[in-house]
Amino acid sequence: MARYRDANCKLCRREGEKLFLKGTRCLSSKCAIERRQYAPGQHGDRRMRRKVSPYGLQLREKQKVRRIYGVLESQFRNYFKKADRKTGVTGEILLQLLESRLDNLVFRLGFAPSRKAARQLVRHRHVTVDGRIVDIPSYSVRPGELLKVRDKSKNLGLIHDSLKEVGRGDEIPWLRLNKAALEGELLEIPKRADIPLTVNEQFIVELYSK
Ligand code: SF4
Repeated sequence: MARYRDANCKLCRREGEKLFLKGTRCLSSKCAIERRQYAPGQHGDRRMRRKVSPYGLQLREKQKVRRIYGVLESQFRNYFKKADRKTGVTGEILLQLLESRLDNLVFRLGFAPSRKAARQLVRHRHVTVDGRIVDIPSYSVRPGELLKVRDKSKNLGLIHDSLKEVGRGDEIPWLRLNKAALEGELLEIPKRADIPLTVNEQFIVELYSK
Protein backbone atom coordinates (compact mmCIF):
# COMPACT_ATOMS: atom_id res chain seq x y z
CA MET A 1 0.00 0.00 0.00
CA ALA A 2 1.17 3.53 -0.79
CA ARG A 3 2.54 5.59 2.07
CA TYR A 4 4.34 8.82 2.77
CA ARG A 5 8.12 8.31 2.62
CA ASP A 6 9.61 11.80 2.97
CA ALA A 7 10.88 13.30 6.25
CA ASN A 8 8.17 13.59 8.90
CA CYS A 9 9.55 16.84 10.26
CA LYS A 10 8.84 18.52 6.93
CA LEU A 11 5.16 17.88 7.56
CA CYS A 12 5.29 19.72 10.88
CA ARG A 13 7.21 22.58 9.33
CA ARG A 14 4.68 22.82 6.54
CA GLU A 15 1.84 23.07 9.08
CA GLY A 16 3.85 25.48 11.22
CA GLU A 17 3.36 23.48 14.40
CA LYS A 18 4.41 20.30 16.16
CA LEU A 19 2.40 17.30 15.01
CA PHE A 20 4.38 14.94 17.28
CA LEU A 21 5.19 12.39 14.61
CA LYS A 22 8.54 11.19 15.99
CA GLY A 23 8.01 10.28 19.61
CA THR A 24 10.54 11.49 22.17
CA ARG A 25 12.51 13.49 19.58
CA CYS A 26 9.50 15.82 19.37
CA LEU A 27 9.99 16.75 23.01
CA SER A 28 13.71 17.41 22.64
CA SER A 29 15.72 20.36 21.36
CA LYS A 30 16.38 18.35 18.19
CA CYS A 31 12.81 19.01 17.05
CA ALA A 32 12.97 20.67 13.62
CA ILE A 33 10.19 23.10 14.51
CA GLU A 34 12.30 24.46 17.36
CA ARG A 35 15.19 25.08 15.00
CA ARG A 36 13.54 26.12 11.71
CA GLN A 37 10.19 27.77 12.13
CA TYR A 38 9.30 28.07 8.46
CA ALA A 39 7.91 25.79 5.78
CA PRO A 40 10.33 23.49 3.95
CA GLY A 41 11.50 24.28 0.44
CA GLN A 42 13.11 27.21 -1.29
CA HIS A 43 10.25 29.65 -0.62
CA GLY A 44 9.18 28.21 2.69
CA ASP A 45 9.83 31.37 4.64
CA ARG A 46 7.71 33.45 2.27
CA ARG A 47 4.89 30.89 2.26
CA MET A 48 4.48 31.08 6.04
CA ARG A 49 4.01 34.86 5.93
CA ARG A 50 1.38 34.80 3.19
CA LYS A 51 -2.24 35.68 4.07
CA VAL A 52 -4.28 32.47 4.13
CA SER A 53 -7.71 32.31 2.46
CA PRO A 54 -10.67 30.53 4.14
CA TYR A 55 -10.14 27.66 1.70
CA GLY A 56 -6.46 27.59 2.64
CA LEU A 57 -7.37 27.35 6.33
CA GLN A 58 -9.73 24.45 5.68
CA LEU A 59 -7.16 22.68 3.55
CA ARG A 60 -4.40 23.12 6.13
CA GLU A 61 -6.63 21.76 8.90
CA LYS A 62 -7.48 18.70 6.83
CA GLN A 63 -3.83 18.10 5.98
CA LYS A 64 -2.88 18.49 9.61
CA VAL A 65 -5.34 15.85 10.84
CA ARG A 66 -4.47 13.53 7.96
CA ARG A 67 -0.79 13.81 8.78
CA ILE A 68 -1.25 13.37 12.51
CA TYR A 69 -3.01 10.04 11.96
CA GLY A 70 -0.76 9.08 9.01
CA VAL A 71 -3.63 8.51 6.63
CA LEU A 72 -3.46 9.01 2.86
CA GLU A 73 -5.91 11.29 1.06
CA SER A 74 -8.22 8.62 -0.42
CA GLN A 75 -8.45 6.78 2.88
CA PHE A 76 -9.11 10.03 4.73
CA ARG A 77 -11.89 10.91 2.33
CA ASN A 78 -13.44 7.49 2.94
CA TYR A 79 -13.39 8.17 6.67
CA PHE A 80 -15.17 11.44 6.01
CA LYS A 81 -17.82 9.77 3.82
CA LYS A 82 -18.41 7.19 6.51
CA ALA A 83 -18.71 9.91 9.18
CA ASP A 84 -21.06 11.91 6.97
CA ARG A 85 -23.42 8.94 6.59
CA LYS A 86 -23.78 8.52 10.35
CA THR A 87 -26.18 10.45 12.55
CA GLY A 88 -24.47 13.03 14.72
CA VAL A 89 -21.81 15.71 14.43
CA THR A 90 -19.77 14.76 11.35
CA GLY A 91 -16.49 16.32 12.53
CA GLU A 92 -16.68 14.55 15.89
CA ILE A 93 -17.54 11.20 14.26
CA LEU A 94 -14.61 11.64 11.86
CA LEU A 95 -12.20 12.01 14.77
CA GLN A 96 -13.83 9.08 16.59
CA LEU A 97 -13.28 6.86 13.54
CA LEU A 98 -9.63 7.91 13.37
CA GLU A 99 -9.17 7.41 17.10
CA SER A 100 -10.57 3.88 16.84
CA ARG A 101 -7.84 2.77 14.44
CA LEU A 102 -5.69 0.01 15.88
CA ASP A 103 -2.39 1.83 15.22
CA ASN A 104 -3.71 4.95 16.94
CA LEU A 105 -4.77 2.99 20.03
CA VAL A 106 -1.45 1.15 20.24
CA PHE A 107 0.13 4.62 20.22
CA ARG A 108 -2.34 6.13 22.68
CA LEU A 109 -1.80 3.24 25.09
CA GLY A 110 1.90 4.09 25.01
CA PHE A 111 3.17 0.84 23.44
CA ALA A 112 4.88 2.90 20.72
CA PRO A 113 6.42 6.38 20.78
CA SER A 114 4.62 7.50 17.61
CA ARG A 115 1.75 6.41 15.39
CA LYS A 116 4.27 5.44 12.75
CA ALA A 117 6.06 3.12 15.17
CA ALA A 118 2.69 1.78 16.31
CA ARG A 119 1.79 0.99 12.73
CA GLN A 120 5.05 -0.92 12.41
CA LEU A 121 4.28 -2.93 15.55
CA VAL A 122 0.89 -3.88 14.15
CA ARG A 123 2.21 -4.71 10.70
CA HIS A 124 4.94 -6.90 12.20
CA ARG A 125 2.29 -8.93 14.03
CA HIS A 126 3.22 -7.93 17.58
CA VAL A 127 -0.34 -7.07 18.62
CA THR A 128 -3.44 -9.17 19.19
CA VAL A 129 -7.06 -8.11 19.45
CA ASP A 130 -9.18 -10.42 21.58
CA GLY A 131 -6.50 -13.09 21.27
CA ARG A 132 -6.25 -12.89 17.49
CA ILE A 133 -3.22 -11.42 15.66
CA VAL A 134 -4.34 -8.36 13.71
CA ASP A 135 -1.77 -6.89 11.32
CA ILE A 136 -4.01 -4.24 9.76
CA PRO A 137 -3.18 -0.78 11.20
CA SER A 138 -6.54 0.66 10.11
CA TYR A 139 -8.50 -2.08 11.90
CA SER A 140 -11.37 -0.37 13.69
CA VAL A 141 -11.32 -1.34 17.36
CA ARG A 142 -14.62 -1.67 19.17
CA PRO A 143 -15.10 -0.79 22.85
CA GLY A 144 -14.40 -3.83 25.01
CA GLU A 145 -11.93 -5.50 22.65
CA LEU A 146 -8.69 -6.44 24.38
CA LEU A 147 -5.49 -5.18 22.75
CA LYS A 148 -2.45 -7.10 23.84
CA VAL A 149 1.24 -7.32 22.98
CA ARG A 150 1.96 -10.92 21.94
CA ASP A 151 3.87 -13.02 24.49
CA LYS A 152 6.83 -13.47 22.16
CA SER A 153 7.04 -9.67 21.66
CA LYS A 154 6.88 -8.68 25.30
CA ASN A 155 10.62 -8.08 25.55
CA LEU A 156 10.75 -5.54 22.74
CA GLY A 157 12.80 -2.57 23.95
CA LEU A 158 10.74 -0.13 21.90
CA ILE A 159 7.60 -0.95 23.85
CA HIS A 160 9.21 -0.67 27.29
CA ASP A 161 11.12 2.51 26.42
CA SER A 162 7.94 4.04 25.11
CA LEU A 163 5.92 3.17 28.21
CA LYS A 164 8.69 4.52 30.40
CA GLU A 165 9.46 7.70 28.52
CA VAL A 166 6.19 8.68 26.93
CA GLY A 167 3.59 7.32 29.38
CA ARG A 168 0.18 8.18 27.97
CA GLY A 169 -2.30 5.24 28.26
CA ASP A 170 -3.03 5.75 31.93
CA GLU A 171 -3.71 9.47 31.44
CA ILE A 172 -6.57 8.95 28.98
CA PRO A 173 -9.95 8.32 30.66
CA TRP A 174 -11.50 6.29 27.83
CA LEU A 175 -8.64 3.79 27.79
CA ARG A 176 -7.68 1.12 30.28
CA LEU A 177 -4.01 0.21 30.40
CA ASN A 178 -2.40 -2.67 32.24
CA LYS A 179 1.30 -1.86 31.95
CA ALA A 180 2.47 -5.06 33.64
CA ALA A 181 0.48 -7.30 31.30
CA LEU A 182 1.11 -5.06 28.27
CA GLU A 183 -2.56 -4.95 27.44
CA GLY A 184 -5.21 -2.32 27.12
CA GLU A 185 -8.75 -1.65 26.12
CA LEU A 186 -10.88 1.02 24.51
CA LEU A 187 -13.53 1.55 27.18
CA GLU A 188 -15.84 3.72 25.11
CA ILE A 189 -15.90 5.82 21.97
CA PRO A 190 -14.49 9.15 23.21
CA LYS A 191 -16.45 12.37 23.11
CA ARG A 192 -14.79 15.22 21.21
CA ALA A 193 -13.85 17.02 24.42
CA ASP A 194 -11.94 13.93 25.58
CA ILE A 195 -9.83 13.59 22.43
CA PRO A 196 -6.51 15.34 23.10
CA LEU A 197 -6.19 17.05 19.75
CA THR A 198 -6.08 20.78 19.05
CA VAL A 199 -7.66 20.93 15.62
CA ASN A 200 -10.80 22.50 14.21
CA GLU A 201 -12.51 19.55 12.54
CA GLN A 202 -15.38 21.78 11.40
CA PHE A 203 -13.00 23.23 8.78
CA ILE A 204 -12.62 19.73 7.33
CA VAL A 205 -16.39 19.28 7.16
CA GLU A 206 -16.69 22.61 5.34
CA LEU A 207 -13.89 21.67 2.95
CA TYR A 208 -15.43 18.35 1.93
CA SER A 209 -18.97 19.73 1.83
CA LYS A 210 -18.23 22.21 -0.99
FE1 SF4 B 1 7.45 17.37 14.20
FE2 SF4 B 1 8.47 15.73 16.00
FE3 SF4 B 1 9.91 16.44 13.83
FE4 SF4 B 1 9.43 18.17 15.82
S1 SF4 B 1 10.64 16.29 15.92
S2 SF4 B 1 9.26 18.59 13.65
S3 SF4 B 1 7.32 17.61 16.41
S4 SF4 B 1 8.01 15.23 13.87
